[in-house]
Amino acid sequence: MSDKWAPAARVPPGSLRITMIRCATVLLSYEGHHLLTDPWFGMHMRGLPVRRRPGRTPSQLPPLTAVLVSHLHPDHFEPAALAELSPPPEFVVLPPGAKRALAGVLRLPGRIGSLLPLPGGRQGLPPVNCRPARHPVEPQKIELCPWSEIQVGPFTVTAIPARHTGPPPDEINFVVELPGWGRLLFGGDARLDTALLGEVRRRFGPVRLALLPVGGTQICGVRTVMDPADAETATLLLEAERVIPLHEGGLWWSLPPLSRHPGRNSDLKARFARRGCPERVVVLGEGDEVEL
Ligand SMILES: [Zn+2]
Repeated sequence: MSDKWAPAARVPPGSLRITMIRCATVLLSYEGHHLLTDPWFGMHMRGLPVRRRPGRTPSQLPPLTAVLVSHLHPDHFEPAALAELSPPPEFVVLPPGAKRALAGVLRLPGRIGSLLPLPGGRQGLPPVNCRPARHPVEPQKIELCPWSEIQVGPFTVTAIPARHTGPPPDEINFVVELPGWGRLLFGGDARLDTALLGEVRRRFGPVRLALLPVGGTQICGVRTVMDPADAETATLLLEAERVIPLHEGGLWWSLPPLSRHPGRNSDLKARFARRGCPERVVVLGEGDEVEL
């Protein structure tokens, strides 16, 4: 593992490189721009030791166009890691209500703007376009309401609703359009909602790549996250060409009956193997990269 981002490791034109860092922390590299999802690099989760190290440190990341944050649970959002990013990302995209929830926590300076939802959805309505600063010295922190979108570098990022668990603010997920490549969906830490995914499919069409959680977390017997069977259903609903499992169970201890995290990446792989298309599932360990 190198200490610094190596410019020689640029992604070939037209290819999207996905680097799995850990859990739902993923680096997406396309046309010289880089997005980071759900930043978390810590080695403890709610007091429990974490078994696997992240595949990169914040200082090893390239300059980021944006950080996309689905929700504020500590395994998906680590303010201290954001502060370590150098240079700072141009944008930090947050769920609505994050500003209030993070008051006194998120110490990065900068403006937080709220974007209003766009009634009627995305089609036929102009995008909200925030121009990146040429030499950003601090990130713009944007609360993105469901079905509204923002242009960050070459990426069009649309927030979509997501069902997960408390406390507020509610989770959002993201559909990211990459010009000349297609679109991907980032599923954060969401539960399965077939009606919602049907609406996403109707609005956007099939996705080329879905990044979906599989840990199947249960808190006091109540499931809060997709499991491999749910991720299989979501992949089929979205007509995703490929799916990369996120947030595998087993990163930290289960404490039954309080908490369980039974879902494994291999379960999702096996499900698509039984369908005769195991190649549809791309399993990445910490630090692994793939180009699509
Ligand atoms: Zn969560």
